[in-house]
Amino acid sequence: MNIDFKELANKYQTPYYVYDFDHITTQYESLKGAFKARKSLIAYAVKANSNLSVIKHLAQLGAGADCVSIGEVKRALKVGIVPYKIIFSGVGKIDSEIKEALELDILMINVESAAELNRVETIAKELDKKARISIRVNPNIDPQTHPYISTGLHENKFGVDIDTAKRMYIQCKNSDNLDPVGIHCHIGSQLTELTPIKESVKIVADLVRNLSALNIDLSFIDIGGGLGIVYDDEVLIDVNDYAQSVLETMFGLDITIVCEPGRSLVGNSGAFVSKVLYEKVNGSKRFIIVDGAMNDLIRPALYNASHKVEVLNDNKEFTDCNLVGPICESGDFFAKNIELPQTEHNDLVVLYSAGAYCFTMASNYNTRGKVAEIAIEDGKDRLIRKRETFEDIIALEEEFIK
Ligand SMILES: *Cc1c(COP(=O)(O)O)cnc(C)c1O
Repeated sequence: MNIDFKELANKYQTPYYVYDFDHITTQYESLKGAFKARKSLIAYAVKANSNLSVIKHLAQLGAGADCVSIGEVKRALKVGIVPYKIIFSGVGKIDSEIKEALELDILMINVESAAELNRVETIAKELDKKARISIRVNPNIDPQTHPYISTGLHENKFGVDIDTAKRMYIQCKNSDNLDPVGIHCHIGSQLTELTPIKESVKIVADLVRNLSALNIDLSFIDIGGGLGIVYDDEVLIDVNDYAQSVLETMFGLDITIVCEPGRSLVGNSGAFVSKVLYEKVNGSKRFIIVDGAMNDLIRPALYNASHKVEVLNDNKEFTDCNLVGPICESGDFFAKNIELPQTEHNDLVVLYSAGAYCFTMASNYNTRGKVAEIAIEDGKDRLIRKRETFEDIIALEEEFIK
C-alpha cells in the first residue's frame, strides 16, 4: 500500500482505519469483467464494510447491494443504489424488516426457511403485494474455511436443503403473493478453494433446470460471495477461473448471475493504524501495548485471525512479542508470538487487510469511541467517519439518569 501512514496519523490522530478506494475499484472491475460473457449483478455484501462513502463508491461503479438487515438496505438506498439492485438476505428477518423491504420494492428477498416463506407470504398479502423471492439452498458442501465463517453445511443454520427448496418453490408458484425469481447459495467466507464453490453452484444450477421442467423459471442465480483475500500468504482463487467454472455449470440457462462479494472487494484495501503506548516484559514475555484494541478490530480475538503487522520505525532487531491493546481481557490481542522490532512511545503499528469485517464489528467496549475512518482516492485523503467522542458514546443514556 502506498499510503503515508505517518502523515495521516498527524492529521487525524490514532487509531484510524484507512481504505484505498482505487484498490476497491480494481477489485470490482476485475470481478465484473470476469463475468462479461453473461448478464451479471455484483451485489456488494454491505456488512463487510458499511461506511456510506464505501458503499457510494461501489454504487458509482454500478454495484448493487446484498444486505442482511433493513438498516443495511437503507444505507444502500441512501447513497444511490437503486432498489432493483438490492437483495435482502439473512437467516432471521424481523416482520417489520420484511414489510419495509416489500414497501421499498427491492429486487428480492432471500428466504432461508419454510417458516420464513410463510411469513413473507402473509406480510405480502397484508400489503396486497407480490413478493419477489429467492430461496437460499444449503448444498451441504464443506467450503474448507474457518468453522465460524462456514455456512454451506447442513450443520450450519443457513438456507434449506434441496427437497425443502423444491417444495417452497411449488408453494410460490401456487401463491398470489409470492413470485419466485431467484435461487441463492453462499457456502462460506474467505474461500481459497475453487472446487467447493463449483460443486455447490452446480447443485444449484441443476435445481434451476429441474424447476424449469416444473414451469418455474427463475431469472437470477445468486452464487453468493466468499472469495478470500490475502491476510498472510494465501493463494487466492483467480477471478477469471472463478467466473469460468461458474459459467460452465450454466449451459442452457438464460439467467442473470448475481454475485455477493464483501471481503474480496474491500478487505485488502484497508489498514488499521494504531500507535505504541508502552512496552513491557512479564517474566520472559515481551508485550507491545498500542492504543488500538479488540473493540476496534476483533478478528484476532474472534477467529484467531492473523493480520500482517508492520512497525514503522528503523529498528532492525526483531524479537518475539505479543501485540496487545489496553482492554481488560486476555483476548485483547492483535498478534501473539510475533517477531517485531523494539519500539518507542508513539511509533506507529499498521495492521494490513483491515478493510472487511473490522470496523463493522467494532464496539464501544471499555467506553472507547469508534475510531476515525479515512479514504484515499486519486492520492488524496479525506475523512469518511469522524472519531466518536465521549458525548457520542453516552448520548442515548444521558437523559435517563435519575
Ligand atoms: C456475508 C455474506 C456475503 C459476503 O461474504 P464475503 O465472504 O464477505 O464475500 C455474501 N452473501 C451472504 C448471504 C452473506 O451472508
